[in-house]
Amino acid sequence: MSEVRLEVKNLCKSFGITKAVQNVSFNVNKGEVHALIGENGSGKSTLTNMLTGIYSIGSGTFVLDGKEIHPKNQVEANNEGVSIIVQELGTLSGLTVAENIFLGHEDQFVHMGIKNTNAMNKKATELLKKYGFERIKAADIIDEYNFEDRKLIEIVKATYFDPKIVVIDETTTALSQEGREELYKHMNRIRESGNSIIFISHDLEEVIEQSDNISVLRDGVKIGSITKAEATPDRLKALMVGR
Ligand code: ADP
Ligand code: MG
Repeated sequence: MSEVRLEVKNLCKSFGITKAVQNVSFNVNKGEVHALIGENGSGKSTLTNMLTGIYSIGSGTFVLDGKEIHPKNQVEANNEGVSIIVQELGTLSGLTVAENIFLGHEDQFVHMGIKNTNAMNKKATELLKKYGFERIKAADIIDEYNFEDRKLIEIVKATYFDPKIVVIDETTTALSQEGREELYKHMNRIRESGNSIIFISHDLEEVIEQSDNISVLRDGVKIGSITKAEATPDRLKALMVGR
């Protein structure tokens, strides 16, 4: 029996009259890549944004390792062991690569009220090397990098502290095949360490290849969850569109 890492229980969220997420429940096991699929507007980002403190929870609960969590922002989510690579650009212009990686977690580099930029850059450089992204320089202003490189930096930012759950929201859309391979490598590393991933992608072949289980949303409602072994692109497509 696999052990449950995250229980998503009866989650709901509305924006005005739009019921973006309606009573969605599913479990994510330890060491699992759990894909969340559905057409545009089916509620995938709304659900994972609630988990990671970007949106407030409408109603329902997230239980991580047996403890209910309700992070009020992304820093609180990180401290609970949850992180996200957002669908949009998730890095801030005007800051360096290192400042982006450690955004909200600069305390570790502050000593007697003074931020030690050298120590921060050194740590970021070590991480970039570990991830195989040496050509990205810690002290550079992030605006010098293109969208794909900024997504690679976000991979470091979202995973360097070994969170229990990492949400990857449509990240592969922005990546070349090479960038995707990099991401898959880190997804496998996370999975092997017993931590878990919620993986959102439109590429159904990629979803089947990379995931252990797949939950399907349609109009904010969970239609079903199926295993990798049961999944085919046609079957997933049929669940997504309801035909
Ligand atoms: P997905 O990620 O599956 O494409 P979303 O979660 O982004 O879907 O959207 C679900 C629904 O909620 C859509 O109808 C979308 O327009 C609406 N929605 C999402 N975020 C907001 C927001 N911040 N304000 C208003 N409506 C939103
Ligand atoms: Mg989305």
